[in-house]
Amino acid sequence: MHRSSFLVVSVVLCAATVLGAQASGPVTPDQATLEKEFDAAIHPDELGGWMKSLASQPNHVGSPHDKANAEWILAHFKAWGWDAHIETFDVLYPTPIHETLKLLGRKPFKATLQEKPIKGDSSAAAKDPALPAYLAYQGDGDVKAELVYVNYGMKEDYDALERLGVSVKGKIVIVRYGSGWRGLKPKLAQEHGAVGCIIYSDPRDDGYSVEATYPNGPMRPPQGIQRGSVQDMTLYPGDPLTPDIGATKDAKRLSVAQARTILKIPALPISYADARVFLEALGGQVVPAAWRGSLPITYRVGPSKALVHLAVKSDWSLKTIYDVIAVMKGSAYPDQWVLRGNHHDGWVFGASDPLSGQAALLSEAKAIGSLAASGWRPKRTIVYTSWDGEEPGLIGSTEWAETHGDELKQKAILYINSDTNNRGILELGGSQDFEHLATGVAADVSDPETGVSVGQRLRAKLRLAALDPEAKEKDHAKAIAKIAADPDRDVPIAALGSGSDYSAFLQHLGVPALSVEYGGEGNSGGVYHSRYDTFEHHKRFDDPGFVYDALLAKTIGRLVLRLSDADLPLQQAGDFADSISLYLTEVKKLAGEKREAAETQAKLLNDRAFALVADPTKSSGTPTPLKQVPQFDFAPLEKASERLKTSAKGYDDALAKSGAGLSPDRLARVQALMQSIDQTLASDTGLPGRPWFKNLIYAPGTLTGYGAKTLPGVREAIEQQRWDDVNRYIKLTADALNAYSDRLDSAAAVLNGG
Ligand SMILES: [Zn+2]
Repeated sequence: MHRSSFLVVSVVLCAATVLGAQASGPVTPDQATLEKEFDAAIHPDELGGWMKSLASQPNHVGSPHDKANAEWILAHFKAWGWDAHIETFDVLYPTPIHETLKLLGRKPFKATLQEKPIKGDSSAAAKDPALPAYLAYQGDGDVKAELVYVNYGMKEDYDALERLGVSVKGKIVIVRYGSGWRGLKPKLAQEHGAVGCIIYSDPRDDGYSVEATYPNGPMRPPQGIQRGSVQDMTLYPGDPLTPDIGATKDAKRLSVAQARTILKIPALPISYADARVFLEALGGQVVPAAWRGSLPITYRVGPSKALVHLAVKSDWSLKTIYDVIAVMKGSAYPDQWVLRGNHHDGWVFGASDPLSGQAALLSEAKAIGSLAASGWRPKRTIVYTSWDGEEPGLIGSTEWAETHGDELKQKAILYINSDTNNRGILELGGSQDFEHLATGVAADVSDPETGVSVGQRLRAKLRLAALDPEAKEKDHAKAIAKIAADPDRDVPIAALGSGSDYSAFLQHLGVPALSVEYGGEGNSGGVYHSRYDTFEHHKRFDDPGFVYDALLAKTIGRLVLRLSDADLPLQQAGDFADSISLYLTEVKKLAGEKREAAETQAKLLNDRAFALVADPTKSSGTPTPLKQVPQFDFAPLEKASERLKTSAKGYDDALAKSGAGLSPDRLARVQALMQSIDQTLASDTGLPGRPWFKNLIYAPGTLTGYGAKTLPGVREAIEQQRWDDVNRYIKLTADALNAYSDRLDSAAAVLNGG
């Protein structure tokens, strides 16, 4: 069938709406034709060409090329037939005026804090200045102190440091990247009394231990530096001066001193070439084996024999950021929005992060524009967004979501995010009541390397993950593998923590979200947030031929087309009910494990076991006693989870049985009930100590920053020994799940003719 027939077909579709709703089964021949047309408009070389120009100069917030990229993207959206505009926000974005890091004493050393250009790479060709080594929202300061090494600088590392009998009070802490959100490293150092923090990339994590270094291979070269934000996003992301509100011109702003997400101590990122000198200056005992990286040195805990001088001074002025918003109005349901986003700002050239995902988004927008040019109209409104300011703290997406929050709550159906994209296997995260939609798409997209569907490849990966001896949560991996092995069940998608632009939608507004990427074979991790994340690196090591960047466009394009053309809601509640039941099992098991650990530790402390095994020639300490864990009444959550299973089955069955042929009135009622059902999972109370995070099912951990914590109000209260919060959030979370089930029951009643 070709173009003209397509047109004929669309007329028939509208008729179907009038006569009755379209069921959400396998795609109709018309949808398949549309998607074939869509695919034909996706060209890997074109994507590559866009990435090359977007990544040709440094494009961090405030840079001329970042603004130019926003204007370029706007012009192309318009040329492709979208109703597009730029929305600006004025946000606090500090940039370095002066920074220095020196080792004092008999063998003085000055850290370079710069990345030298590499011949034949954009890093050498570009004319605009790149940001030097910098951590946005560190606290500025000028300190001289001894140095102490604290491994990844995460909570468990401070617990281990306590056992070594070493304190960081009044010291400068040096930690390596990895194992958690960068911002937690200087934050925990600050909370333990340190006066400064240095973060370096150890070659064990993303350098020569992993693969050859750039330009001979993909991994981080000795002089490579990972820039980044260290704002305390576990409290709230976005512009630090305007929590909960958009950073518009007339917004009421906090002062820098009042902003809780800005740290109080100076911090800098350095390369492993520089870090080696500082690590070799450490005295004290050798660190535990798990703390030793791959530098050819003896890793010691410190303190250093010589003082370290760390000084950072920044320009704390507001900068303008440029979000590009493109709208294609829906023909049948204009007030129902399908949202799609990817950021366009980088730390330097940002080729893999974020422009690989951005290029895919642009390719989708062009293809959808060409479908519209040939007469197709989406039923729902499609909103494409190209965010600025993601790198410093998800700022562009958060300020936009905070500004348009009320309208988004009334109109948003789903927000689909992408970011860095590499060659490899599909990575899906998000609201699990959209697993059925994602499964359908993943089954219909063919993987270029293997020829099977990307869904089949993902299932294989999830099944093998259960066999991985290194797997952190073995029981969880086993449960997921079991589902992935069953072809009749939807592909399980992971819960979302934080780390990209879905956060404000999912965790602040309660709007459902999906995160879609490919990865695991390409290797952009080695140049993450460095001067070497260039077009050349992406082309050589991350996605040769831009094949998987184009595949990302085909994958997400299908999600957008199916969402924007379906009459019926696309949620399947059964998958969500299964996830909740799994998370509840995990949380109950966690309470038991914590209880046992506290009892065991109490006995060990009582028997002076820690003191007895300590080597008297070395410093040592005993752990801070754990609180004894009381019994918790999980009944409200258990009841809510059981009820959810019943309501979910009732709704899914009613949808399958009665969905097709619904009267327009009934269809409108079901659509209205399901448009905001996921928002029932967000409570105005928010999570303890961080009310910006409203979602009671999905949140980043306060001690992970990136990693997801499901049933966070309950799970984290158990982990952090806040027993009152456990009981309070068992109730609050049960109430949220019951509200979700109420909504399902109402929708099922409408579907069943009630
Ligand atoms: Zn990114």
